[in-house]
Amino acid sequence: PVVLGIESSCDETGAGLVRDGRLLGHAVASSLDEHARYGGVVPEIAARAHVRAVGPVVRRALDEAGLRLRDVGAVAVTTGPGLAGALHIGVAAAKGYAYTLGVPLYGVHHLAGHAAADTLVHGPLPQPCVVLLVSGGHTSLLLVRDLARDRVEHLGDTLDDAAGECFDKVARVLGLPYPGGPAVDRVARDGDPHAVPLPRPLTGPRDDPYAFSFSGLKTAAARCAEAGGRQVADVAASLREAVADVLTRKAVAACLDHEVGTLVVVGGVAANSRVRELAGQRCATAGITLRIPPPGLCTDNGAMIAAVGDLLVRAGARPAPWPVSVDPSAPLEFAALHPVPSG
Ligand code: ATP
Ligand code: MG
Ligand code: FE
Repeated sequence: PVVLGIESSCDETGAGLVRDGRLLGHAVASSLDEHARYGGVVPEIAARAHVRAVGPVVRRALDEAGLRLRDVGAVAVTTGPGLAGALHIGVAAAKGYAYTLGVPLYGVHHLAGHAAADTLVHGPLPQPCVVLLVSGGHTSLLLVRDLARDRVEHLGDTLDDAAGECFDKVARVLGLPYPGGPAVDRVARDGDPHAVPLPRPLTGPRDDPYAFSFSGLKTAAARCAEAGGRQVADVAASLREAVADVLTRKAVAACLDHEVGTLVVVGGVAANSRVRELAGQRCATAGITLRIPPPGLCTDNGAMIAAVGDLLVRAGARPAPWPVSVDPSAPLEFAALHPVPSG
């Protein structure tokens, strides 16, 4: 069947249509302009924006795919983690579509969505593969054996801030526009990545090889920015270099340690140009196949949710028990949200 995926966990409203692993069409609306003057996402504003955007976004995705609503055979929706009010809007809309169409509804884990995004451009994930999930709220290394059946081993997480959060917060101190990640990436082009000596946290011989820490790096970069006397571009370039260095170093080490031949980098920070470049260089040197979705599928979107829905349908998963609700602080265990009978 054609799976309609709906995403509304943060400030992006996304809809996507996937059938048999193929992306047929998708559309995203963002309320980021409405949050810019607050310097961060305001949950109430995000929720109201989803109410306005969800119908039109589904319509645009259908138009792009050349499909009609009645062609949809299953609906998938993000049920967590994310902002409660924002999630509820997507879930309410998805219930409406599923109920009126008389088709099954699947609850999807937002982070499984980020990982599945890559399958829409590069095909099924090789089993196993290492997934570096780097976003606004998460930084994790996962050993993925089977995404749909939740055979996912946690290698390590950040002990404090996520990489995207680090970019966003330093950007604010640097006076760059919201959201900070893309702004730092842009400004860094004109800077010297070695101008400011910044730490490479948890990369010592005694450190946990797969754990991350970005709060010290954030503070170091922010202090340097506040002290003045440095070019904004140089601070941005040095921060981007430090983050990209730590992320890619640990991800490649995880592949080598586990004798895994493929690294998949996903989540909003996977859109970062230096992360993409350095991952490419290091994987080439190590003989590892690198997969990163195009930037538009790295940040939040509905196609990735449809991709998980499609995997679940094909794996024979049971639809979500009615009534489907949200789980704003869903743990990283994907199966908690979409149980699949093993076999
Ligand atoms: P999560 O997925 O953990 O729930 P989220 O959905 O808010 O969090 P994403 O949409 O996956 O996160 O990613 C948003 C994050 O990605 C933000 O922190 C943003 O600054 C960052 N980001 C986006 N583009 C870039 C870029 N080019 N360089 C660095 N960071 C970027
Ligand atoms: Mg966002
Ligand atoms: Fe996300």
